[in-house]
Amino acid sequence: MAASAGAAMAAGGAPLPPADQSLVDGVLARQRRALAKSITLIESTRRDHQERAQQVLGALMPHTGRAIRIGISGVPGAGKSTFIEALGTYLIDRGHRLAVLAVDPSSSVTGGSILGDKTRMETLCQREEAFIRPSPSAGSLGGVAEKTREAMLLCEAAGFDVIIVETVGVGQSETAVAGMVDMFCLLQLPNAGDDLQAIKKGIVEIADMVVINKADIDPRAAQVVRAQWKNALHFLRHASPHWAPPVLTLSALHKEGIVEFWEQVLAYRDALTPSGEFEAKRRHQARAWMWNLIDSGLRQFFRHHPAVQADLPALLDQVDAGRTTPTAAAYRLLGHLQAPPAPNIAAGSASADASPL
Ligand code: GDP
Repeated sequence: MAASAGAAMAAGGAPLPPADQSLVDGVLARQRRALAKSITLIESTRRDHQERAQQVLGALMPHTGRAIRIGISGVPGAGKSTFIEALGTYLIDRGHRLAVLAVDPSSSVTGGSILGDKTRMETLCQREEAFIRPSPSAGSLGGVAEKTREAMLLCEAAGFDVIIVETVGVGQSETAVAGMVDMFCLLQLPNAGDDLQAIKKGIVEIADMVVINKADIDPRAAQVVRAQWKNALHFLRHASPHWAPPVLTLSALHKEGIVEFWEQVLAYRDALTPSGEFEAKRRHQARAWMWNLIDSGLRQFFRHHPAVQADLPALLDQVDAGRTTPTAAAYRLLGHLQAPPAPNIAAGSASADASPL
């Protein structure tokens, strides 16, 4: 995050160095190697790589935005890779090109659990029209999500017209993925009671579609769970006035319900496009992404500011001991960003009207 926050943006109109230009040309020519190398550049935490990555991305931006972006979330074992394989094969047979990316909060700890296993999506892996990339393994979830978002843009520039971002149903990763895709889908197991868990976690609000997988095991139980979900969704205020999230049952293993899933994706796009909502959602996501980066960049800048570093330990002690209020301490620290470092930084003299930034 630190490096990307300070990376230079692509210089307007300035020619790229030959190596980077050949990456841009390669991505546009749909060369997998150039795409993979560009994503590696984006995932690098080296500051010079980050600057180059932003230049490459900047040059490719006019060629992005033409794909439909789908988020798929589900607990490990829900059947995500089986489903994506079935959907991907169906789409490729109909002339689409599919990229699958992952946001995996556990990858920063374990080195990647989803998509990391090469035996997953075996059929899809062999198709020229599919591109599968595991989650980047470095950095915080915020950093991983940011890189996945940029990888998604690179895949679009390389002509992939369906992007799937996969995530496991834990932590903040679902919100991060919902914030980068057009349509966010929850893949559920046909277990009664799971819906309540999702409602508690606040995940249901961001779902544009709910899919009950493994309906082949017990079709009747799957229908019961479907009814529970429909009921739960009925009482929620939906994000869009033009779309009520549908609940589907399917069997990824037997490739049943895949056509219906895709029909709902297209119906979603058709429902949100006439009012401009589809594009507005993307604009909103892009702005939110920018502000996220600004927030994290400011935080980094603040924490590394010499006066803040000098003042912080004593102020923390004072807050701990109840001698200074958190508000006064925060204003005092933020005040260091406005003024040159004060010669006397004795704690406790924070001015009450010092404004935060
Ligand atoms: P992931 O961890 O969410 O990616 O789940 P997987 O796709 O690896 O699936 C976990 C297990 O569930 C595998 O053994 C799959 O074969 C099985 N599975 C996936 N979808 C279905 C389904 O629709 N029906 C049945 N019976 N099994 C399924």
